[in-house]
Amino acid sequence: MQKLLDGYAKFRNQVFPQQKDRFRLLADRQAPDALFITCSDSRVVPDLILQTEPGDIFVCRTAGNIVPPHGQMAGGVSATIEYAVEVLAVSHIIVCGHSDCGAIKAITDRRDLSRLPLTAKWLGFIEPAWKFLDAGIPSDPRVLHTALIHANVIAQYEHLRTHPEVARALAHKKLQVHGWYYDILTGAIEAYDPEERKFIPLEQSIAAAR
Ligand SMILES: [Zn+2]
Repeated sequence: MQKLLDGYAKFRNQVFPQQKDRFRLLADRQAPDALFITCSDSRVVPDLILQTEPGDIFVCRTAGNIVPPHGQMAGGVSATIEYAVEVLAVSHIIVCGHSDCGAIKAITDRRDLSRLPLTAKWLGFIEPAWKFLDAGIPSDPRVLHTALIHANVIAQYEHLRTHPEVARALAHKKLQVHGWYYDILTGAIEAYDPEERKFIPLEQSIAAAR
């Protein structure tokens, strides 16, 4: 806790005064260009990875970067997506998974979740990911872990597209959706290419889109 309090003191006394003009502009409005949906994992820090500033991205974090399909859970994730699309009119939604994801490990290791009924129910939304393992189920547990993380990004990307406001904005070409994978060890991001059904380095994906 002391680390948090020391951090706040530094922010209040050193960082905030340097950026007070920015915060004055942001005090009563926001216009983020993207909704970034990622895992709650402490090692995934969107503002660090993307070098974004206050006001740049609208963020939604859930265990396993899960997006329940439309109609299956009218919870915080669905409301956040609806608000981002209908009110903030974001141009992009990114679903970002990451290496060494505990939510995926719970599935691949078949952990006993009987003491965690809410977690067990929530992680049930990962199950559709199995069908996106195009090359079958790898026998090596580490390979399976990484493959299922990628497959889960695709599954949640597909769930995202079932939300009516997302589907509408996509149809009107007001929105683009993206599936990303972030590697904690290397800092590299891969992007899902829905046509090729594979992940490619983000730099390559951006170059192809230009
Ligand atoms: Zn995770």
